[in-house]
Amino acid sequence: MNPFDIQKIRADFPILDREVYGNKLVYLDNAATAQKPQVVIDAIVDYYTWNNSNIHRGVHYLSQIATSAYEDARETIRAYINAKEKYEVIFTKGTTDAINLLAYSFGEKYIHAGDEIIVSALEHHSNLVPWQILCQRKQAKLKIVPVNDKGEFIFEEFEKLLSSKTKLVAVAHISNALGSINPIKKIIKKAHERNIPVMIDGAQGIVHSAVDVQELDCDFYAFSGHKLYAPMGVGVLYGKEQYLEEMPPYQMGGEMVDQVSYQHTTYNRLPFKFEAGTPNVEAVLGLNAAINYIKGIGIEQIYRHENELLKYATNKLKKIEGIRIIGEADQKAGVVSFLIGEIHPYDAGTIIDHFGIAIRTGHHCAQPIIDHFKIPGTIRASFAMYNNFDEIDLLINAVKQVKKMFE
Ligand code: PMP
Repeated sequence: MNPFDIQKIRADFPILDREVYGNKLVYLDNAATAQKPQVVIDAIVDYYTWNNSNIHRGVHYLSQIATSAYEDARETIRAYINAKEKYEVIFTKGTTDAINLLAYSFGEKYIHAGDEIIVSALEHHSNLVPWQILCQRKQAKLKIVPVNDKGEFIFEEFEKLLSSKTKLVAVAHISNALGSINPIKKIIKKAHERNIPVMIDGAQGIVHSAVDVQELDCDFYAFSGHKLYAPMGVGVLYGKEQYLEEMPPYQMGGEMVDQVSYQHTTYNRLPFKFEAGTPNVEAVLGLNAAINYIKGIGIEQIYRHENELLKYATNKLKKIEGIRIIGEADQKAGVVSFLIGEIHPYDAGTIIDHFGIAIRTGHHCAQPIIDHFKIPGTIRASFAMYNNFDEIDLLINAVKQVKKMFE
């Protein structure tokens, strides 16, 4: 494995050279979306420059090239998450799209009145609202696993919620609001003892850790390309063949069909049954390039580096009087959420922005967990492989300036 060369990595991301308000950009909003390395940008440009064509349906040269590049990308992802079969990798628009697909399709097949679905109090709205609406549609019940004051999933409470009525458990791998890493392996094992399938929202998980879906034995795993250094508009729903085969399609149209007449339509085989219409080919190719790029560095090395940044930032923040860290789970990745005294996070964020530092403020699309802490929101710094310690020092300095201005 190559040594982790932060200078070289930074040079691969052209946006890091730009200025914001006369300062060099410090990008610490990676949990919202990550920046793209040149190889990903090149993959998009190459596709439109040389190979643009619709896929799966053309006999001509360009269509064949584009189709095989698209299917090669599916194989890259299969291998990266160690899915058993390539057709268990469904391309979607992103995590939200993947979870909506599942909520509709799994819901149609398996959820009935009186059934229960379990989520945690840490979920992003994308892994909460689709299940809430499904439960309303099917007269089922949504159960919520509470968290403790450190922002940790309470496993004993989860065990108590499991029953013969539970038909699905849907939990985040890593919380985007607090950075808590959920004990997903234990959760999956416990649910499987009762033959309950588990869906993991991996929007943050795939970015900070190696994911082996067979080792985890999760039934579904969803993630977005854009948080993984790939383009927006592409994501993945991994699902076990057994479920995907039984579930009905989510969207109808071209590609997902086999035979169509005015009376009757039969569906295409997996994965195409779930990929209606022209997909975002360039984004899929960009995702392929992003995964190959990450593999070249090593996700373990990336995680180690981000963890050092997280510890460094947390320690420095804690030394500033009046700082409150929100979410101090023992197992944490990528994110530090905090408040500066009584200063509203939005006010703080606006000032920090003027230093050229991109952080996120607010509820981070996870209102229930913010309500749990009875706060208006947090200031969130989230780290990626290209961030360095100098950038954290700049953030700390900006936080001190905010404090001074309000004193
Ligand atoms: N789940 C989690 C944990 C997330 O962090 C996000 C994005 N912030 C989503 C779901 C939704 O992802 P997307 O907007 O890419 O669909």
